[in-house]
Amino acid sequence: MKAPEGIGIRKYRKEMEKVLKPDRYEHSIGVAYTSAALAMRFGADVQKALIAGILHDCAKCLTHEEQLKICKKQGLPVTDAERKNLKLLHARVGAYLAEKEYGVTDPEILSAIRWHTTGRPGMTKLDKIVFLADIIEPNRRMFPEMTEIRDRIFADLDEGLKLTLSYLLEYLQKSGEEIDPTTEETWAYYRDGQDSAGNGS
Ligand code: FE
Ligand code: FE
Repeated sequence: MKAPEGIGIRKYRKEMEKVLKPDRYEHSIGVAYTSAALAMRFGADVQKALIAGILHDCAKCLTHEEQLKICKKQGLPVTDAERKNLKLLHARVGAYLAEKEYGVTDPEILSAIRWHTTGRPGMTKLDKIVFLADIIEPNRRMFPEMTEIRDRIFADLDEGLKLTLSYLLEYLQKSGEEIDPTTEETWAYYRDGQDSAGNGS
């Protein structure tokens, strides 16, 4: 029998299984298929969603030191917020690795990986999908309000994004971690409805 369509992520999946810790790998599969489901629901490219999802945390297999080294060597900027909270760095380095190590050339996929941790004002539909799938995939238990958040996202991507950002900011504030100003800018942008012109969606 011929292989079914949608075999496109198999090679990335195998690569990720090799380099990621088991829990991170499971999470990545969760993000890939949740992204695909959201892409089906909201009319985005399902294959791109799968690939961005499976690869989004590809830089998590590297230590913070290794990630910093790549940034230095490749001339990738490291912001103050990233320096203070090195966990943030894997999004930027992940987009770099997706392109250089795994051969992804599609700018939409690379953008979704680049912005999956902080979001950004004016996200594309795929950016929004991967950002949200990272938070709501089945293995995640980040917020007690998970059911409400999932319901809202599947009902309305932008309303769901707004709700998720509000909970995310609250969660980050409570955690006492360094918050990337980009996340705050993203929240302000969507809270104030600046995306109503249909930017990216
Ligand atoms: Fe991540
Ligand atoms: Fe993730």
